[in-house]
Amino acid sequence: MGTALIGDPGGPSLLLDARRNLDAAFTEREREDHGLIGLLPDGIESMEVQLDRARAQFADQPSDLAKYQFLSALQDRQERLFYALLRSDFQRFMPIVYTPTVGEACQRFGHMMRRPKGMYISTRRRGHIAKVLRNWPVKDVRFIVVTDGERILGLGDQGVCGMGIPLGKLALYTACAGVPPEVTLPIVIDVGTNNEAFLIDPLYPGIRQRRIEGEEYLSLIDEFVDAVQATFPDCCIQFEDFTNRNAIPLLNRYRERVCCFNDDIQGTASVAVAGLFGACRLAGTTLSQQTILFQGAGNAAVGIADLFVKELVARGMAFKDALDRCWFVNSRGLVCAGMPRLPEYLTRYAHSLDAVSIPEGAVAGPDSPMTSLADCIEAIRPTVIVGVSAVAHAFSETVVRAMARLNDRPIIFPLSNPTNKSECTAEEAIKWSGGRAIVATGSPFAPLHFGGRLFVPGQGNNVYIYPAVGMAVYASRARRVTDEMFLCAAESLARQTTDHDLSVGLIYPPVGSIFETSVQVAVDVARLIFESGLAREEHPVDIAEFVRAKVYFPEF
Ligand code: NAD
Repeated sequence: MGTALIGDPGGPSLLLDARRNLDAAFTEREREDHGLIGLLPDGIESMEVQLDRARAQFADQPSDLAKYQFLSALQDRQERLFYALLRSDFQRFMPIVYTPTVGEACQRFGHMMRRPKGMYISTRRRGHIAKVLRNWPVKDVRFIVVTDGERILGLGDQGVCGMGIPLGKLALYTACAGVPPEVTLPIVIDVGTNNEAFLIDPLYPGIRQRRIEGEEYLSLIDEFVDAVQATFPDCCIQFEDFTNRNAIPLLNRYRERVCCFNDDIQGTASVAVAGLFGACRLAGTTLSQQTILFQGAGNAAVGIADLFVKELVARGMAFKDALDRCWFVNSRGLVCAGMPRLPEYLTRYAHSLDAVSIPEGAVAGPDSPMTSLADCIEAIRPTVIVGVSAVAHAFSETVVRAMARLNDRPIIFPLSNPTNKSECTAEEAIKWSGGRAIVATGSPFAPLHFGGRLFVPGQGNNVYIYPAVGMAVYASRARRVTDEMFLCAAESLARQTTDHDLSVGLIYPPVGSIFETSVQVAVDVARLIFESGLAREEHPVDIAEFVRAKVYFPEF
């Protein structure tokens, strides 16, 4: 208990320091030693009592957004209680601090903003970013989640209001996998916004200008990355919710020389591949038998495809054949050879249609011979459809029924967030496939009954991956983050899905046990980091013990 107070000036400042404040859990002795007598009611409370009160207050909030604000205020006041609360019931609290409610919080951020958290680095700081970073009170920052706010979930440009995402992500690094909160730092790079409503909103808290682009943008990000390296040498940078125009080039620019990753690309890929492992187990098929049609061709889609291809090649498939297992539909239709204006990262997936029979009556567009997803399904005959387009209802009844006609166990992953952008609901996928679909959704959906059976939809969300990879990187002080680590995480996650989980259609371990699951994934990934010589820490005798000893527990 006393560790909370080491080096503390005491008195009211102790109660205002969220990291050290225990409110009425301070003992009589601590109250005497630190000048707290009279500043608190005399009753001394355990964490359990404080948790009960917090749960009751949470339940009293009139809306999910009010619940979000309540949790945010609790984090500002008493950090340990905040994390203990999250860890006590992930099923209940995760949809509030994370998708879907965090999306609404970002949209309303400027209006409901109270105490600023994290750092805001705008174009006005160009040339001085390292100096700005030194204003952060903690010197040994090990994890930065940074966004430029341009593609927040499926909600588009939220400018600096996108700060909700780094905050939520980092809270889950700690809650789900035990990364100590004091080593984390959320950052928004404010390069302007093209959100018209924000540009004229007097309560918008960012700089009021259109986004900078091109070389002007890139040089600012370069300066930021260099400044992080200089200021926090052991820090890993997680790029978050950048639009695909920037996300993929930025990842390729830094991944070989900086400890960094992009969760939308690599974390999503990992959780999707883990889901495919589980789906194959459930369907009695193999990964090599799958053909995936992606609705959407951005960060998440290409990330999943690249990791899937890597895994197929590792299993012995020729690279070209593995590429042929992935097809994409973007806003212009089926991506195929000859489609104009394709970004470089998509060209290898732009297959010839010579061997494909285009259904009669298929609607062609100016750039593609097929523009409807249903027609593409008839032509490509995929075993898996993955929705990462943020186009709500794209997996229509026609689409799901076509998948169910072509496959005994169609694999249907509507992964877009938040909930109102999901390509279909879990219930729709189950109902329209007659209970045969294997489903994972990006945002949470409640369990349901169909045909007398219970179905528990899995949450195909990178929250199963990035906190765990983060914990492994933190514990080992990894020099780089590699795709192999994300494959390792996928395998570890899939191994932890039990036959009982699969019996109710759940292809991931339950969200309720995400802490235990994530720590195990972290141990497995840390083992790979040590084995591949990427750790800056010395190889410990027992890696599991080493990682577990570094896990943060929010105790009083
Ligand atoms: P992105 O902007 O990089 O890509 C979106 C893609 O959708 C683009 O290729 C675009 O052409 C395509 N698209 C737009 N309209 C379309 C249409 N009508 N038909 C077909 N395609 C269309 O975004 P992203 O990072 O790939 O994220 C996409 C979605 O996936 C978001 O909702 C995001 O929240 C979600 N996502 C979920 C997870 C998860 O863990 N479940 C992780 C990352 C992203």
